[in-house]
Amino acid sequence: MMSVLSRNAWRVRCAILTLGAVAAMAVVFPRVYADEPYARNRDYDLQHSKITLRFDVEQRKVIGDVTHTLAILHDGTSKIDFDSVGLTIQSVTVNKAPAKFETTAAKLIVPLPAVAHSGEKFDVDIRYEGKPAKGLYFILPNKDYPNRPSQIWSQGESEDTRYYIPTYDYPNDRLTTETILTVPASWITVANGKLINVSKAADNMRTWTWRESLPSSTYLITIVAGEFDEIKQSWHGIPVTYYAPKGRGDRILPNYERTPAMMDLFSKKLGVDYPWEKYSQAMVDDFVAGGMENSSATTNTSSSLRSAKLIPEFPGDEDPLISHELAHQWFGDLVTCNDWGDIWLNEGFATLFEMVWSESHYPKDQADYERWLAVQEWLSQPNLYSKPIVRHDFDDSSEFDDNAYGKGGLVLYMLRQQIGEDAFYRGLRHYLETYRGKNVVTADLIKAIDEANHINLQQFFDEWIYGAGAPKFDVAYTYDEGKHQLALTVKQTQKVEGHVGIFHVPVKVEVTTASGPKLHTISVSKEAETFLLPSDGAPVMVLFDNGGQILKSVEFHKEKKEWLYQLKNATELADRGEAAQALAKLKNDDEAVAALGVALNADQAWGLRDIAADALGRMGNAAAGKELLAGLDANTQPYVRNHIVGALGSIKDDPKVVTKLLAISSEDASYRSRANALQSLGKLKAATALPALTDAVKGDSPDDFLRNAALRSLGYLGDDRGVPLLREWSAPGKAIETREAAIASLGRLEKDNKEITAQIASYLTETHYPIRYAAIRALGSRGDPSAIPALQSLLKRDDLSIEMAPTVKEEIARLQKEENSKKAGTTEIDQEKSGDDGDQAVALRLDRMEHLIREMNDRLKSIESRLTRK
Ligand SMILES: [Zn+2]
Repeated sequence: MMSVLSRNAWRVRCAILTLGAVAAMAVVFPRVYADEPYARNRDYDLQHSKITLRFDVEQRKVIGDVTHTLAILHDGTSKIDFDSVGLTIQSVTVNKAPAKFETTAAKLIVPLPAVAHSGEKFDVDIRYEGKPAKGLYFILPNKDYPNRPSQIWSQGESEDTRYYIPTYDYPNDRLTTETILTVPASWITVANGKLINVSKAADNMRTWTWRESLPSSTYLITIVAGEFDEIKQSWHGIPVTYYAPKGRGDRILPNYERTPAMMDLFSKKLGVDYPWEKYSQAMVDDFVAGGMENSSATTNTSSSLRSAKLIPEFPGDEDPLISHELAHQWFGDLVTCNDWGDIWLNEGFATLFEMVWSESHYPKDQADYERWLAVQEWLSQPNLYSKPIVRHDFDDSSEFDDNAYGKGGLVLYMLRQQIGEDAFYRGLRHYLETYRGKNVVTADLIKAIDEANHINLQQFFDEWIYGAGAPKFDVAYTYDEGKHQLALTVKQTQKVEGHVGIFHVPVKVEVTTASGPKLHTISVSKEAETFLLPSDGAPVMVLFDNGGQILKSVEFHKEKKEWLYQLKNATELADRGEAAQALAKLKNDDEAVAALGVALNADQAWGLRDIAADALGRMGNAAAGKELLAGLDANTQPYVRNHIVGALGSIKDDPKVVTKLLAISSEDASYRSRANALQSLGKLKAATALPALTDAVKGDSPDDFLRNAALRSLGYLGDDRGVPLLREWSAPGKAIETREAAIASLGRLEKDNKEITAQIASYLTETHYPIRYAAIRALGSRGDPSAIPALQSLLKRDDLSIEMAPTVKEEIARLQKEENSKKAGTTEIDQEKSGDDGDQAVALRLDRMEHLIREMNDRLKSIESRLTRK
């Protein structure tokens, strides 16, 4: 799965999670949402389900008849339990004979007519109906959105299929399915597997029959029905189909046409052909995730159907989403994690294959830049550091975190580097063939790679997967002229505690002298050690882990001239990026600014030019501003220009910057640059910003791109005169993404106005999930504790989609913290008045300041990443 905010750049989601996670630590919540961490013991093997569904669309009701074919696993079994939440069970038969049944809040229990023994088979038929609180979603035209196409779609992962089908709902079982859907004649449907038949039914309806003959887990069951446009292609005789909400069919191929090429690449790399009978991608409105890899039938958010006018401005477009969900068809669907604690076996591989596609399809520099960003993103989430990738203690946070995704992908990337491409894919092929159609734990992967290659990876997995964190290196060197020898001192400075230990890593070290570069491989394994390397002269550049293959942070003690040389001469983007970041720390150094300016204009990799622009923005002084302005003349690519324009938002008190931003905001050829210019004007709190933003809100652009940027910018601007505009565009009836932007900014204005808090809180229960998310986060950032009860009652509802509960919980914790520091503030003033214990008052104030700065930094980071990478 890919989460809503992570689409196209999962980093975004992570930034937001980071924000709340720190605050959440002190608060203990009842276990209302955590998934079952360990695989269940099973009494039976569910083998096949015939799922027959009709819908009362107006009532948002499902009317179901499901027949489960199952085999008993233990002698003496006297009853069969199904997961079933909120469904009204009308009748049950066992082998066609009417049967008694009981229901609890979460179970349907069917006593067997006699005690059964192992191997005995039963057909259990259940007739039921219900209005699913989640799992199955009805997106329908209403008074606010009278023209939207009707859609019904499901989202099973992680434990929501039970809300619309009584079934065995945990990953450690697999079944084949037949799905029979009766819908209005003008609708189409999508379900797992092959389309067998479409026939006329009474009352101007049609009945669609789908059959999936390969077994997979219940969370991968899918149903999509409604008014859709369809495009059909094929790959090696397998149907490849795409569905867009009616009227948006022309947007499918410009964004999705690389799908067959990806199927080709992954099949070849893995030596295991795409395994399912078809591959469909259905794009649906208001989706609760970014994408979901249901077996043979992915569902994605319709916001991945980007306007053709914007596509050229997004290098790689929607490829990360498309390749991620496709890779899951092998990793997740064909071979499935046995429990949620091993979810990285799904998500880590899906993330790795985003990189595999980039490496194959795009220039090396682009793939390197994407990986560089992934490393930076994981490093920016200190709350993940102490948690192992495989863990079963996710009561207080989602297991779908950036350890499973980002770190999982980067660790697999490292593994491929360490054992080599051939051994890596030989191991994966053996893993997929051995466990095809089965459920796995991490040990199965270790064993498969060993069996295929005779390579024992236990230590690697102990450190990177079962252990936590990543090495924090401190590196320095001296050169001995007489011995022609370099002494490289490497320390691992991470605190060894909990799951974090000392890492054993092979590291490539490149030493460049006047006669050229030489590559050495050292084996780092201690807290501190010194490596002696031959060198034919004094080095001009020493690179530790050149190319940045290892997930790590490193403090390399170098002189400025070395960083300048490295920025200009290092072959790999990661090494030049490291130099750019080091030089940015020199703040007011003219040489550093000039060197970054040269990189911004002349580096061959556009990704590095982005890094240089960001570095200059971080320096934030007049000289850096001058280089950024000059960079606009040299860079025509929209994805570099927009970074430069974004970085200009950090250059304060320079009228030339504001003039330039105003001009770009209204007339640049790049929409992303115009959008970032609008946001930089807000961040700079420019006097001319309000009219420019107001105009931009009123104007039209593809996908409302500029309006949405202007609305977000009104939040940074912090001018309360923007409130009426924001209230207007937050309201039901406006486009969903526009409302998301307006609500986020509204949260930041007139912070004492309880009416605004109440307006935002009123959106918490809307059926539009993206709006719910926007309201949850806006209330958290608003800091008005009067929103706590509304958030708490949201938490009690049974219709929270995946990942929503942890987000709500984090924002409540944030508000409680805010409330506490406000109380602390009162105490502080009292103490000052009374005049005693002045030291304590000062300490309190410092604490508050520190807290405030941390919060502001977090917010800024979260917002910036949302803006630059949306
Ligand atoms: Zn995924």
